[in-house]
Formats: sequence, structure tokens, C-alpha cells
Amino acid sequence: MKNNFTSSEVICDDCGKSFKIKKLKTKWIDDNVQRTYFICLYCKKEYTSFYKDKRIRKNIKKIDDLQRQYDEIIQENKEIMQELREKYEGD
Ligand SMILES: [Zn+2]
Repeated sequence: MKNNFTSSEVICDDCGKSFKIKKLKTKWIDDNVQRTYFICLYCKKEYTSFYKDKRIRKNIKKIDDLQRQYDEIIQENKEIMQELREKYEGD
């Protein structure tokens, strides 16, 4: 998953200045939950982007596995198509 945060300009609630989010930081809140956040470049106020717990991490892993399977199937189809082309077009 690509994040859209890094390209967008935000305005800080506290100091009213606008800045681009350069980098999201991640911090463990407890042994299950991770908080992803960014900091105002000017006044250092922290803004939470999202929280992730182990259910979400599990789903992300599942999506990664499915993505890998998807890529493998696409690749397999390319090879089969090539094989068929050689079979029916080759002399
Ligand atoms: Zn600020």
C-alpha cells in the first residue's frame, strides 16, 4: 500500500502554518498497537495518521500473500501464452 500522506500539504491546527508531510513516524503504544504519526515542522505538534494492531498487520500480510499469488498467476499466464504461440505459430 502506498500512502498518500507524504505528498499532501496540511495546515497545523496549533500554529496555523502549512507544511508538507515528509515522513511518517511509527511508535509502539503497547505490545499490540502501533501508532503512525507525523509532526508539525514548525511547532512539533504530533498528529496521528492511523493506528495498527495485530489484526491489521495480519490482514496486510494476507494482502501481500495474495499480491504475490496474483503476480505468479499473471506470470504463469504469460508463459502459457508464449508456449501456445510457439506451438501454433512455430514451424
Ligand atoms: Zn504547528
